Amino acid sequence: MAVVTKMQALWLPLALLVFSGLAGGASPAAAGASLEQHPDSPYLYVLGTAQDGGFPQAGCFKPHCMPGWEHPELRHPTASLGLIVPAASNKYLFDATPNFPEQFYTLEVEAPDTRYTFGGVFLTHAHIGHYVGLMQFGREVMGAKDVPVYAMPRMRAFLTDNGPWSQLVALHNIALKPLEDGQATPLPGGITVTPLRVPHRDEYSETVGFLIRGPSKSALFIPDIDRWETWGRSLRDLLKTVDYALVDATFYSMDELPGRNMDEIPHPLVTHTMDLLADLPASERGKIYFIHMNHSNPLLRTDSPGSTPKSRTVWKELKTSDLV
Ligand SMILES: [Zn+2]
Ligand SMILES: [Zn+2]
Ligand SMILES: [Zn+2]
Repeated sequence: MAVVTKMQALWLPLALLVFSGLAGGASPAAAGASLEQHPDSPYLYVLGTAQDGGFPQAGCFKPHCMPGWEHPELRHPTASLGLIVPAASNKYLFDATPNFPEQFYTLEVEAPDTRYTFGGVFLTHAHIGHYVGLMQFGREVMGAKDVPVYAMPRMRAFLTDNGPWSQLVALHNIALKPLEDGQATPLPGGITVTPLRVPHRDEYSETVGFLIRGPSKSALFIPDIDRWETWGRSLRDLLKTVDYALVDATFYSMDELPGRNMDEIPHPLVTHTMDLLADLPASERGKIYFIHMNHSNPLLRTDSPGSTPKSRTVWKELKTSDLV
């Protein structure tokens, strides 16, 4: 699978993060020591980087999506993270996407069932790119038994009260585990996972991002947020407390949305997020990783023949060598 061949390893002092397919070929280069030297450090593994519809997107046959249809290796699955905790022999997923079957396989290759127990799924919200993969746990497919699914109150009610999800609950394919805004869930191996509510179109559920803290390093994962300005928290302040921030990059700039008013766009543009952080030192800006790219976003095509110099430049500006 394309994401696997693009895997990039980043070494960090006490914890490891492995990124797969982050914004294509413009990902930071492997640096420092190898994974083998720190076999017990927990790490995140990026299993997908695209917006809910993935890349290319269904029904889009425009020039920006055609390379993805014609060359499967240029495809990008929907944003999802694996969390692998070797010391506790556990593995987890953040969000269950429409690409769940291949992402669950990628996780298996990285952390096989022979050694790792699947500890469950943490859900951000009830938009299709983030939870519909749960259907694979059902009797038609895996017939899973009590897979822990960590979710906020409205998200749990949505799954419990609406088919086909309610069947997963009734048949104990999944076991819902409560999350509360700002409250840490401890996991074996010295990990905590804390949901942080964010403003978003909450038709069926709340929306959260996750603060994932390991023994020494931490990451913020916010695939969807309407805007930084209406969030009760400061991205700049949070950035100081984490080592990695994987944030909403749905749209790169207004170029993708001709004729639309920016106030109507329910995502911070990449250019806007960059402006917001422009005066921070490179060490802070370098913590930002853009994720959840819409099929129209040029960041998805930095490794394609049609790659734009602009997106490469931007990526380089933000991904400075301070990650080494
Ligand atoms: Zn989304
Ligand atoms: Zn498209
Ligand atoms: Zn959403």
